[in-house]
Amino acid sequence: MQTAPIEPIDRQQSAPAAAPLENLGTIQRRKTRPVKVGNVTIGGGYPVVVQSMINEDTLDIDGAVAGIRRLHEIGCEIMRVTVPSMAHARALAEIRTKLQRTYVNVPLVADVHHNGMKIALEVAKHVDKVRINPGLYVFEKPKDDRTEYTQAEFDEIGDKIRETLKPLVLSLKEQGKAMRIGVNHGSLAERMLFTYGDTPQGMVESALEFIRICEELDFRNLVISLKASRVPVMIAAYQLMARRMDQLGMDYPLHLGVTEAGDGEYGRIKSTAGIATLLAQGIGDTIRVSLTEAPEKEIPVCYGILQALGLRKTMVEYVACPSCGRTLFNLEEVLHKVRSATAHLTGLDIAVMGCIVNGPGEMADADYGYVGKTPGVISLYRGKEEIKRVPEEDGVAELIALIKDDDRWVEP
Ligand code: SF4
Repeated sequence: MQTAPIEPIDRQQSAPAAAPLENLGTIQRRKTRPVKVGNVTIGGGYPVVVQSMINEDTLDIDGAVAGIRRLHEIGCEIMRVTVPSMAHARALAEIRTKLQRTYVNVPLVADVHHNGMKIALEVAKHVDKVRINPGLYVFEKPKDDRTEYTQAEFDEIGDKIRETLKPLVLSLKEQGKAMRIGVNHGSLAERMLFTYGDTPQGMVESALEFIRICEELDFRNLVISLKASRVPVMIAAYQLMARRMDQLGMDYPLHLGVTEAGDGEYGRIKSTAGIATLLAQGIGDTIRVSLTEAPEKEIPVCYGILQALGLRKTMVEYVACPSCGRTLFNLEEVLHKVRSATAHLTGLDIAVMGCIVNGPGEMADADYGYVGKTPGVISLYRGKEEIKRVPEEDGVAELIALIKDDDRWVEP
């Protein structure tokens, strides 16, 4: 299928400014304003926030509370809930109360759909952030025979959006709550499609239109997203948004995600390709990996991306060589044993290397190393220093003993 060309991004302008040499190897995050969502802050230099969305029916109060709790317990920091009707909006009041009574006050976001003004106003009382989709908030019925958009028509819809958005903005402002302006490539408003085409530029202009209305009302607790299911479109949209905001003196945090990424290995690869590419450029303050699987499966992927980029440290970092003809022991088996014994020691870097030819040099940054010395003999390292040589069968136990001697061991 022929797809619409992606507008090229001017590399000169979109490339991040060259980092000073001493910062090389560390991601320099784009400066953004802090936006509070309950007791979690997005942007402002805070760690990149992990979020997800429950798939229980919001009207099923017990089910929704259990779903939120399950996600929160494994590290999800902000929970999104869909609110397609007024009944769902009211159900959020019960969900919030039940969470407070039986668990903790988890940061909640309501996802509001077509023509959702009244629903948004109700649900804004019960959640910490409301997500609206500019393409759907004031729904324009597409006209099949349209050949032009007059300025008067364009302005008329703009006025209608302003009028519809204003009460929600004022309510959120008064309550100190936040809004996500969540543009989706697949649901751009007709007049944006007409003016800019099905492009990253159309997505960015759609977000900017809503941002400007919020700014006119002096409301800046905004988070912006520009999701697409095609990774290059999503990357281009966020890059362009960051560039446009820099030009306009805006500093809103960005919520990253690839929509409809699918499931399994490819769903994870696709999400990582989009999210990690942007994070590596310093773009992005909160992430959601959208998988066609239970939402609990999304959280490890989020943390894996953040850990791999050095943005958050939530687990042990294992450095292990791929093994080759020089490997002196069953690397896969030993790595598995080392991981089983040490996976709870969050914060440590542990290397498992097959031989001393390249092993010690390539694991140089790890806190501890397990390296094949000669057949049947393992060298244990603390940083760059070889500490002891032990028989292979004692290797894992001796590694644990070394970590204990250093007072860096905690019981699982
Ligand atoms: S560290 Fe040694 S065993 Fe591992 S891949 Fe490199 S040369 Fe091969």
